[in-house]
Amino acid sequence: MITIAIANQKGGVGKTTTAINIATAMAAIGWRTLLIDLDPQGNASTGLGVGVEARKASSYDVLVEGLPLAEAMVPTSIPGLDIVPATVDLSGAEVELVSMDERTSRLSAALANHRGHDICFVDCPPSLGLLTLNALSAANTLMVPLQCEFFALEGLSQLLQTVEQVQQRFNPGLGIVGVTLTMFDRRNRLTDQVAEDVRECLGKLVFETVIPRNVRLSEAPSHGLPALVYDHACAGSRAYIALARELIGRLPEERKAA
Ligand code: ADP
Ligand code: MG
Repeated sequence: MITIAIANQKGGVGKTTTAINIATAMAAIGWRTLLIDLDPQGNASTGLGVGVEARKASSYDVLVEGLPLAEAMVPTSIPGLDIVPATVDLSGAEVELVSMDERTSRLSAALANHRGHDICFVDCPPSLGLLTLNALSAANTLMVPLQCEFFALEGLSQLLQTVEQVQQRFNPGLGIVGVTLTMFDRRNRLTDQVAEDVRECLGKLVFETVIPRNVRLSEAPSHGLPALVYDHACAGSRAYIALARELIGRLPEERKAA
């Protein structure tokens, strides 16, 4: 199994939208896919139709109580896509974890013996606290959504510094599979310019696929559905399918599912 953390300490840049839709795209092409919701807001859980009442166990129980992943997981309405939902308990986990042993490697321990999925995405909260550190310590690689706005690159150096620290201390194999430009608006010259600047600065690290600003992507979660199911033909859905394809092309051969 390959584990991909979706992280950026900025809020509202498209982490959860990317997590939901890329996980759905991977499941649709036959990869047994797991999504771990590591944001106390639980937007990935809600967006995949897993209501609060269906969250009997959660990522909190896995991280803090040591519950096996398999017992915290629920199937979604998408064949081949399971989720470990998040509950508001998780907002206390940042504090509770501080005094715990192996506080940064609890997710990694939970994933170590996990079987039954080919790929796992971790939707991170908008901070570089212990939840995100757990995700980075557990992941093989990292995907960074970057919103096409003026301050897009601001904060990225802090994230990259954190990645370096995690590589040195907890997870030497952690890679960065790519940066995804999100909410691109081709009618807005500023976003064009931002996209160009980001490519100039980060080069091949940036995925060719750009996620457009698309109202269907923002409507879908209120129906408890990924955009890919809500409107599979919309520009946003098509972009996430292209992104999934590009992602697979960047994964190491031995990680690719049959
Ligand atoms: P994050 O998880 O980084 O906080 P979200 O994925 O929740 O970000 O996105 C923030 C808001 O922007 C949400 O309301 C979401 O529906 C909306 N959104 C995300 N990506 C797009 C997009 N490409 N086009 C339009 N709206 C988007
Ligand atoms: Mg989010």
